[in-house]
Amino acid sequence: MNSADHTSPAWYLLDVNTASDRLHSPEQGLTSAEVESRQAEYGLNELVEKQRKSVWMMFLDQFKDFMILVLIAAAVVSGIIGEPADTIAITVIVLLNAILGFVQEYRAEKAMAALKKMAAPSANVLRGGKVTTLPVNQLVPGDRVMLEAGNIVPADMRLTEAVQLQIDEAALTGESLAVEKQTRQITEEELPLGDRKNLAFKGTLITKGHGQGIVTETGMRTQLGQIAALLQDQEQGRTPLQKRLATFGQKLAYAIFAICIIVFVAGLLRGEPPLLMLLTAISLAVAAIPEALPAVITISLALGARKLVKQQALIRKLPAVETLGSVSYICTDKTGTLTQNRMTVEQVYFDNQIRSTNELPETESGSTTSQSLADKPHAELLLSALSLCNDTRLDGDDEVVGDPTETALFELAREKGFLRDALESAFPRLAEIPFDAERKLMTTFHPWNEGKVVSITKGAAEEIVVRATHLHAKEGPTDIDQSQVMQHTEQIAGEGLRTLGFALRIWDAVPESLIPEEIEADLALVGLVGMLDPPRPEAAESVALCRTAGIHPVMITGDHPLTAAVIARRVGIIDEEETESVITGKELQPLTLEELEARVEKIRVYARVSPQQKLKIVQALQNRGHFVAMTGDGVNDAPALKRADIGVAMGITGTDVSKEAAHMILLDDNFSTIVKTVREGRRIFDNIRKFIKYTMTSNLGEIWTIFLAPLLGLPIPLLPIHILWINLVTDGVPGLALTAEPGEKNLMQRSPRHPQESIFAHGLGTHIIWVGLLMGAVSLFTQAWFIDRSQEHWQTMVFTVLCLSQMGHVLAIRSERESFFSQGPLSNKPLFGAVLLTFILQMGTIYIPILNEVFKTAPLTAAELAITLALSSIVFIAVEVEKTFKRKKNSL
Ligand code: ATP
Repeated sequence: MNSADHTSPAWYLLDVNTASDRLHSPEQGLTSAEVESRQAEYGLNELVEKQRKSVWMMFLDQFKDFMILVLIAAAVVSGIIGEPADTIAITVIVLLNAILGFVQEYRAEKAMAALKKMAAPSANVLRGGKVTTLPVNQLVPGDRVMLEAGNIVPADMRLTEAVQLQIDEAALTGESLAVEKQTRQITEEELPLGDRKNLAFKGTLITKGHGQGIVTETGMRTQLGQIAALLQDQEQGRTPLQKRLATFGQKLAYAIFAICIIVFVAGLLRGEPPLLMLLTAISLAVAAIPEALPAVITISLALGARKLVKQQALIRKLPAVETLGSVSYICTDKTGTLTQNRMTVEQVYFDNQIRSTNELPETESGSTTSQSLADKPHAELLLSALSLCNDTRLDGDDEVVGDPTETALFELAREKGFLRDALESAFPRLAEIPFDAERKLMTTFHPWNEGKVVSITKGAAEEIVVRATHLHAKEGPTDIDQSQVMQHTEQIAGEGLRTLGFALRIWDAVPESLIPEEIEADLALVGLVGMLDPPRPEAAESVALCRTAGIHPVMITGDHPLTAAVIARRVGIIDEEETESVITGKELQPLTLEELEARVEKIRVYARVSPQQKLKIVQALQNRGHFVAMTGDGVNDAPALKRADIGVAMGITGTDVSKEAAHMILLDDNFSTIVKTVREGRRIFDNIRKFIKYTMTSNLGEIWTIFLAPLLGLPIPLLPIHILWINLVTDGVPGLALTAEPGEKNLMQRSPRHPQESIFAHGLGTHIIWVGLLMGAVSLFTQAWFIDRSQEHWQTMVFTVLCLSQMGHVLAIRSERESFFSQGPLSNKPLFGAVLLTFILQMGTIYIPILNEVFKTAPLTAAELAITLALSSIVFIAVEVEKTFKRKKNSL
């Protein structure tokens, strides 16, 4: 086997050729056979994760709950002294409960794992002469990988090309200043990692430039792998709601304990057997403490996240699903998010005139390289510049790969006969200063004539114009009237076109140091281009939807203010005559945070902003009490994405770094998807609230029934097994099915929920108390009414009324306001099925003889059953009446 030689880990001491020989890495990349054998030898390029909780541990964890243990112990004791059948029945129910809990947790875990897998990053690798995009875990030593600003380095590698390449290695070295990389051999031995400047390490962030490297180590052999044990994945933290409910749950548990003690003592005083009372009290505690709550929240969030993937949004941090519903500002990029990112050059400006692209000459492709750049007529020089100062490339199938702005330029040049490959070989790129969104410029160097070189700079039109000290003309430079050129720029931008400028400068040789401020100055303007990027067809509708939902959409773009304003108007972010709501990065720069806070709520469009300024905008909005979703795609967007309440990265055009920092990734880069996720977030939160409403009311109903009976002079209405049964059949499945409830009709017509708002707000707390009381009252009324019959009879009736009242309740609270009948029972099929199942099971406990023995129930007569069912529907009717009042009140 021709495998890589790993005897020397000090790759930085080797020159590029020796390193590539040692790694058996040919220039055109590894062959597939070679990759296969190396994968067999080195395994996948991944960090081995800490052992996940095994399935068994997950199951056993269900019994960790102290109350459950006490319950089992008490059941065993009572079995020894009294009836073993009771012990068995209780144990079976507890087991079933554990299985239910386990299944829920397992599903949540699976959903989370699937999401994590989808978020796995990819890398561009040269294999068999072709560049392909592969999941990072497929890399093997010897692979040649392209590196670009925004990538996370996918493996340890020896660099073979480094163009202004800077890497932030803080994750490994703690040094937050990015390291300038190089390819030269280093001779000094025993260097610390941070000084091994010709290496790149897995997990570090490329902040600038681009390059290439040969993989030296993968997976756990990388520097990151060696310290991976220290960095093991942090546990997914609890969501804000879970934290709040945990605190609340603790207080609730104390209250329930106190009640159980009272129930126990009251029972003893009435002369009930102590062991029975102990079991009753503990069963009540088990049933009433909403221990499933945190799990249900995780499940509904995880299932919600799974559903969101189908709507093209990948959730990276689960709490984001919960908080999406609180978003009050969506700050979005323009290009590609509100617009289609399908650009075409529409206008060109040179020789003091704006022209359509039809007016550009078409050239025989061969002739484009026969003259030096210096000798080309103006239009041809501009077309050559479009193609040369451009990073797009053709892939194996002749498809253009690259940024849409550059692709549009490339396409125009190609259409006019200026083929990139031919131009590149005639006028090769000698050096470059890569594009970055701060400067909004990029520069490349090519041969000019007579041994001279030319730097071609392209970028945001005004940035080019302010740096242009003269106009380029074949005969020699002429004076520039900057304000006149600016007017032309504004004319193009005013039509909603994206404007880019092209300029050049002649040099005797490529300068030693490529400092952007020095190189991109004193330029000769060659021309401007205007590109059309139409809005996405669905953008306007989504913006309008935001408005009705009380959410403010804001555009933050690197583009020209006029272009931005035209697009903002077309999609409805600003109105026709609004101009005050547009601000540029230059105007934003001098504002202090306080000054911005004073204005921030009026601004709708931020144009020509640099990514750093996004952070300031998020902070200002947050300080004004807003909950902000912010999109971003570049390296420098990461701080703003992290800071935002919902950081949204672009799935298609986004860099690894931005994805890593984000809470959510838009798989289709589409603004409308953000609005859909907000809607989904609101729905999920509503359903969690409904679940809480349901379980807490049910539990309270059970508590009132058991607690009040002795105080009213009645015997304890239910046996422990009844309480546990009700807990089993009502809590888990129907409650969970509530999370499948479709969204309320007014979901996007109400204002965002305030994130700090209590979960019990908007009448939830009152509902729980009054319906819980009603449920208890109906059960006790049933008991009092039929107390003269045999205990089996009245107890069966109370048992059934309490169980089925909860089913009536769950059906009634499916909607906050809409009636059950207008919703239709089948609009939530899982819930309908769960309620039906519970009903059938409950009937089983009444009419199946063996279950009569287990549950100490008696078959009811037809009349008794009819009364039981009628009493069970009281809660349902009462809640329907409550909703009618709510509807009336709102329609007034
Ligand atoms: P948005 O922020 O809405 O996505 P954007 O694409 O304009 O819009 P950036 O990518 O930050 O944002 O680009 C900022 C500006 O830099 C652009 O408006 C354009 O004028 C210029 N620009 C973009 N791409 C290039 C490029 N490849 N070369 C030179 N200049 C570019």
